[in-house]
Amino acid sequence: MTFNNMTEVHSKALEKPTIISRVISKREDRKGITVVIFAGIHGNENSGIFAIQEVFKSIEDCELNGSVYGISGNLKALELNKRFIDEDLNRIWTFENLEKLIRKKELNTEENEQSEIFDLLNEIISLNPGPFYFIDLHTTSSKTLPFVTISDALINRRFSKLFPVPIVLGIEEFLNGPLLTYINQLGYVSIGFESGQHDELNSINYHASFLYLALVFSRILKKEGILDFDKHYNKIADATNNHSEIYEVVHLHRIKENDNFKMLNGFKSFQPIKKGVLLANNNDEEIRSKKKGILFMPLYQDIGEDGFFIVRKVKPIFLRLSAILRRAKADNLLVLFPGIHWENKRKHVLKVDLKVARFFAKQVFHLFGFRSKQVDETHLKLYNRARNARTDLYKKESWFNSPY
Ligand SMILES: [Zn+2]
Repeated sequence: MTFNNMTEVHSKALEKPTIISRVISKREDRKGITVVIFAGIHGNENSGIFAIQEVFKSIEDCELNGSVYGISGNLKALELNKRFIDEDLNRIWTFENLEKLIRKKELNTEENEQSEIFDLLNEIISLNPGPFYFIDLHTTSSKTLPFVTISDALINRRFSKLFPVPIVLGIEEFLNGPLLTYINQLGYVSIGFESGQHDELNSINYHASFLYLALVFSRILKKEGILDFDKHYNKIADATNNHSEIYEVVHLHRIKENDNFKMLNGFKSFQPIKKGVLLANNNDEEIRSKKKGILFMPLYQDIGEDGFFIVRKVKPIFLRLSAILRRAKADNLLVLFPGIHWENKRKHVLKVDLKVARFFAKQVFHLFGFRSKQVDETHLKLYNRARNARTDLYKKESWFNSPY
């Protein structure tokens, strides 16, 4: 597939432009391991593009054990340094949308981008045997420690545990159609990495260091192959203060159309907050924290629907317990309870009648690996995040056998 559109992207941090196309860089050796890196899915987050260019340049002469692709996201929006033009490119990756996309005659800006990325993705998956590692590079509008976000599948959890960063699970329960949720549903390891604030120089540095680690952890590059593995590892570990716990999202403040939402100044991601703290104003109404927790990704830009999240630490005992339950495929037992039945057994979708099964909390379903979506007042639909996992591709990897 050839894409000839050249796009100029300007880095405020580096005070310089670069010219890119859909494939920023690639090294192909279609024998096995494949690492696919996305950058600029949001057009005002170009840090990852510059990191990809730096990393490919520095591994130019290195021997690689597989294929690596660096792919750009929203080219039109990157050119204008805007999050998106018509709609958010990271909220349209549902199976339903993709089916429609193939038949649609007129595409908007992001559907055009999506359609190119979709073709390329399919080509990469069909040309390479795998195992596959998908990495999506982002930055945030607020100050933050670098962190990873994943759909809570065991393969994602175990692979991302190798990096010295905090991991946030379950964000996909609150968002519709992120690219990585789609790829995770295909069964592949897929991790999002947010390196810092949009235009900071360190965001590029952390993106680059993270990529070096990912190339080594996926075994595509030997540890000795990069100049200084420890330097990159320590750079990330220092940036996170060796903070590498696992969190889950418990709340999202969603901004509605025509809302005038304004976060109070000075909040950072991973900042602990008490109950009742004034966080934001919305149409002259005060928004205070409903409970004690940890603030996550407060929004400091005009565009976007996610005002802020609240996360909390997941205790290691729950991680171990959930790993055991999922390995035993214990979810088959859930349907023995009244009010819970298979909506689609082949696709591992459960439906729960909350009037009958009210003693089940969402946390219980999380343990079994399900992500929930409220369908109406009294029903939940539950999707198993791990059952599609292509464990056949990963089971020989050393990280695969961790207790988490
Ligand atoms: Zn983003």
